[in-house]
Amino acid sequence: MNASTSPTPPAHFIRTRIARELAQGLHERVITRFPPEPNGYLHIGHAKSIVLNFAMAAEFGGYTNLRFDDTNPEREEQRFIDSIKQDVAWLGYQWENECYASDYFETLYAYALHLIEHGLAYIDEQDAETIRQQRGTLTEPGRNSPFRERPIEENRDLFLRMRAGEFTDGAMVLRAKIDMAAANINLRDPVLYRIRREHHQRTGDDWCIYPSYDFAHGQSDAIEHITHSLCTLEFEDHRPLYDWLIEHLPVPSRPVQIEFSRLNMDFTVMSKRRLTRLVDEGFVAGWDDPRMPSIAGLRRRGFTPESIRNFCTEIGVTKSESIIPFGVLERNLRDDLNVRAPRRMAVLKPLKVVLTNFPEGQTEWVEVANHPQDSAMGTRRVPITREIFIEQDDFMEEAPKKFFRLKPGGEVRLRNAFIIRCDDLVRNGDGEIIELRCSFDESSRSGLPGAERKVKGTIHWVSAEHAVGAEVRLYDRLFNVPHPAGDKELDFVEHLNPESLEILSDARLEPGLEQARIGEFFQFERLGYFVPDPDATPQRPVFNRAVTLRDTWARLEAQMSAGS
Ligand code: ATP
Ligand code: MG
Repeated sequence: MNASTSPTPPAHFIRTRIARELAQGLHERVITRFPPEPNGYLHIGHAKSIVLNFAMAAEFGGYTNLRFDDTNPEREEQRFIDSIKQDVAWLGYQWENECYASDYFETLYAYALHLIEHGLAYIDEQDAETIRQQRGTLTEPGRNSPFRERPIEENRDLFLRMRAGEFTDGAMVLRAKIDMAAANINLRDPVLYRIRREHHQRTGDDWCIYPSYDFAHGQSDAIEHITHSLCTLEFEDHRPLYDWLIEHLPVPSRPVQIEFSRLNMDFTVMSKRRLTRLVDEGFVAGWDDPRMPSIAGLRRRGFTPESIRNFCTEIGVTKSESIIPFGVLERNLRDDLNVRAPRRMAVLKPLKVVLTNFPEGQTEWVEVANHPQDSAMGTRRVPITREIFIEQDDFMEEAPKKFFRLKPGGEVRLRNAFIIRCDDLVRNGDGEIIELRCSFDESSRSGLPGAERKVKGTIHWVSAEHAVGAEVRLYDRLFNVPHPAGDKELDFVEHLNPESLEILSDARLEPGLEQARIGEFFQFERLGYFVPDPDATPQRPVFNRAVTLRDTWARLEAQMSAGS
C-alpha cells in the first residue's frame, strides 16, 4: 500500500470496530476486497470504497484484493476490467490478488449442491413473475412454492441437468429453502442460480447457469479469507442472508459484512446506469469526459490521486446518507496543487498591447520564480517584447472606480515586469477595441531596488511573439440543479448544464507550455490550475482547467441565498 501520505485519519465506526476486534484477538490481520462489477468505469463513489478498503487493510497489517464481481455476463466487458485496474492503480493502490468471482464458479456450484443435499435448496419451475408475487410484502408473509418440498434426489438431478444445458432460459431456478414467512424479504427463499445462455467474457460458454449476486458475493469473500466485507447500505438487508449462507456452507472462513453510506455529490449523478446513459447517448464525449465524476474523467480534468484520496478521508465513513458539495472535492484539489503546481502565465482571451517605448525587435528575458513560496522549484526566464497580450477582462474602457486593472489613462503592473500606462486605443471598422497602446515605466521594474512603485492592480501577460497558441477548455458543473437524479417529473438529462464546457480556441501560453506532458499540472497565474489534455497535438496544445483559484460556486451560492 503505497498511498499512505494522507494526514492522520479521523476515527470512524468501522476503524473503531476493527481495532476492537483485533484487540479481542478475533483476527490476526485484516483482509479486505474491492469488488467492482466490470460493467462501467469507476466513479468518485467507488473511490470512497477503495480508499476505505485499502486503508483498513493497510492500517491493520493485511492486504486488499481486487475482485471483479463478474457474475452478470450480459453487461460486462474487458475494457471495463482494464479501466478499473488502471484507475485503482492510478489512485495509488496495489492490490494483493486480482480475483474474479467467475474463477469460483465451480466451487459455488459445489456449494449449491451442498445446500441441495442438506435439504436447504430446491428447484422451482415457476416463472419469475409468479415467484415475485408469492414473495409477499413487508406486511404480508410470502407463500410457499408448490415445488418447495421436492425430494432431495429430484432437486439434485434437476440441478445437474440445469448445468448440463437441458432446460431453456428461465425454465427453472435454484432457490434457498429458508423461510417464506421471514420478516426480512431477502430470506424468503432467495434465488441462487438462474439459467442464462449468455457468453461470459472469461468462462466463455462453459456455463449456462449463473449464481445470483447474493450467492456469489459472500462465498467469494470466504474463499479469499476476507475478514471484513465492507459494502454500502443497500446491502444491509442482505446481511442476514449473507450470514445464513456462510453458516450453512462448508466455506473456508467466516467473513463479516459491514455497511456504510454511499457517497453522493451535488450537481452530478453517481450511478453507473446513469453515467452509462450519458456516454451511450452522447451527452458527454466518453467515460473520461472531464465533466464526468468518473475517475477517468476526474484524472483528465486534472484531479490528482492525492486530492481524491484526501477528499475520501475528509468526508469520513458513517451510516447516514448525505450529499457532499462538489466544491469539497475541488477544494482538496486546490489545496494540493497550490503547494505543488509550478506557476506559469497564460492569456485565455487575448487583447493586444503595444508598448510604444519598448524597442522594436528586442526581446528581454525576465527571471521569474516558479513558485512564490517554494524556492526549490527554481526560476525560469520569460520573454517580454514590444507586443504582448493581456486578458480582455483586464481592460475596461469605461471602468468603475473600483476597477484596478487597466483603463484609458490608467496604470497597472505587468506581473514580474513593470508598470504600464494606457495612452491610446486602436479600434477596428466596427468600433471595437483591437489594440491598446501603452508606455512602460523603466524605473518601475520588478525587483529593481527601491524602484518598486506601487499601483493597485497587477495583471498577467505573454509576449505576442513568443506565446504559444492553444485551445483551453473550461468546465462547469455538468448539471444545473443540485440533485438531477432526484427529480420525479423530469428525466435527469433534462437538467444537463448546456454551459458545462467552454472552449477558448485563441488562448496564448507562455512558451515552454507546449512541451507539457500528461500528468503535469500548472497554476496559470490568476486563472486557476490547468493540465494538458490528451487531445493536444505537437502543433497545438490543449489545456483543461482543473479548478479555479477560488471557489466561485461557493461565492455564487452565498450571493444567491443572500438574495442579491
Ligand atoms: P452503481 O450503483 O454506481 O452502479 P455499484 O454499487 O453497482 O455502483 P459496483 O461495481 O458493484 O457498483 O461497486 C463496487 C463497490 O463500490 C461496491 O462495494 C459498492 O458498494 C461500492 N460503491 C459503489 N458506489 C459507491 C458510492 N457512491 N459510494 C461508496 N461506495 C460505492
Ligand atoms: Mg453493484
